[in-house]
Amino acid sequence: MAAAKNEGVEKMEKVVSLCKRRGFVFQGSEIYGGFVGSFDYGPYGVELANNIKAAWWKAMVQGERNIVGLDSAIVTHPKVWEASGHVGGFSDPLVECRECNTRSRADHLLEEVDVFADEKMSVEEINTLFDANRDKLVCPKCGQKNFGTVRQFNLLAQTNLGNFSEDWSKEPAYLRGETCQGIYINFKNVLDSTRVKVPFGIAQIGKAFRNEIAPRQYIFRKREFEQMEMQMFVSPEEEMSLYEVWKAKRMQYYIDLGFKPENLRFHEHENLVFYAKAAFDIEYNFPFGFKELEGVHARGSYDLTQHQTFSGVSMEYTDPYTNAKYIPHVVETSVGLDRTFLAVMSEFYDEDELGGETRVVLRLPKQLAPIKVAVFPLLKNRPELIAKAEEVFALVSKEMRAEFDDNGNVGKRYRRQDEIGTPYCVTIDFETLGEEKPELKDTVTIRHRDTGEQVRVAISDLIDTLK
Ligand code: ATP
Repeated sequence: MAAAKNEGVEKMEKVVSLCKRRGFVFQGSEIYGGFVGSFDYGPYGVELANNIKAAWWKAMVQGERNIVGLDSAIVTHPKVWEASGHVGGFSDPLVECRECNTRSRADHLLEEVDVFADEKMSVEEINTLFDANRDKLVCPKCGQKNFGTVRQFNLLAQTNLGNFSEDWSKEPAYLRGETCQGIYINFKNVLDSTRVKVPFGIAQIGKAFRNEIAPRQYIFRKREFEQMEMQMFVSPEEEMSLYEVWKAKRMQYYIDLGFKPENLRFHEHENLVFYAKAAFDIEYNFPFGFKELEGVHARGSYDLTQHQTFSGVSMEYTDPYTNAKYIPHVVETSVGLDRTFLAVMSEFYDEDELGGETRVVLRLPKQLAPIKVAVFPLLKNRPELIAKAEEVFALVSKEMRAEFDDNGNVGKRYRRQDEIGTPYCVTIDFETLGEEKPELKDTVTIRHRDTGEQVRVAISDLIDTLK
């Protein structure tokens, strides 16, 4: 167990170091000493993040006949968050160390000593549990065991956008705590403006904000993060069968992306919120253990009913075949982009030996790789090689994200591309110019990331071979 933990810590350090070294992820506001819970995606990170979003959109929107997309506003009418229950009840249990004033999540401290506090516990219940374990609970900052009492802390972040009064915090607007509320409030708009019929889904990718008490584990828990959510509006009768369909589809999605099945598992929520019918998490085996990657939930008619009550606008749906009237129920799939990013980096990070040298290699599936192909002139100081390589680069970069590299020996250039997961490197050499063997004129070598194998192809076949 301890060995597994150390291995995990080591793996995490390697992933974090690679992310920084190669410009995938930077600490937010680094030149100002950092800003807790915020991270920036660098040049390769933004490519990977965009590819993850594209893969999700392809699976959830392009590949589904009855799911449509949406991009709703981040800041909405404040009533949205009253209706959703976030203003009243979107909180985590906060406890402060009396020695160093560090704030921690009480449930996370308990989890460290294998005591599980349910997120639905009242503040009294969690205090009782916390008191019963005080002798074991240590402050992660100073190591002391002197905590105050646990209180509930609301995670919704406020903003004065559109409010010009002096004490705007009396009537704040909110940065959305989840993207799905934007979907619920547009249910009627989508229904009335498109040809969808229940069951149908609305998918959205976008930023969400939570005042996380103790953001930790790198990009796993951020204060500003991105979600990819799909809400499927279904009849009450179909809710549970479609829930099972989506549970299975979402698990298969990760397998299809190339994740090992043993690194994924379902975790059932034991104590559901009162309106929910069922809730499963898909957990991934992060370097720090199995943790929630995605939630799949059967939410009943709660969400639309709440917005109907608070807005006064009917959310009723009339079935065009049976004329039955009802408020649709919701099956939700909700995953964080940042958690997927970390899962992808962990899953495909590898070290091996190739040609007698050890190397770091990101075995990313082609569709996720930030750079699909790197183009190298064999030598930097031969204008005719450079000119030909530039010609090849112009050709491939029209079709896919490519990189031109003429720096250092070719072996070093391969290692650099292996580290960022580039599936192919194309080298332009003297044979390409036809100088040595005329029959090889206008051919290049393609080197494969995973095996190091090299093949020679005609430039005219290059795009087809790389695709
Ligand atoms: P957790 O229990 O880990 O706080 P949650 O159950 O509150 O997560 P949901 O509200 O179900 O999470 O959000 C759906 C998804 O959004 C999560 O499965 C996760 O991938 C992502 N997510 C939630 N909070 C964060 C965060 N602070 N940083 C990054 N991703 C997050």
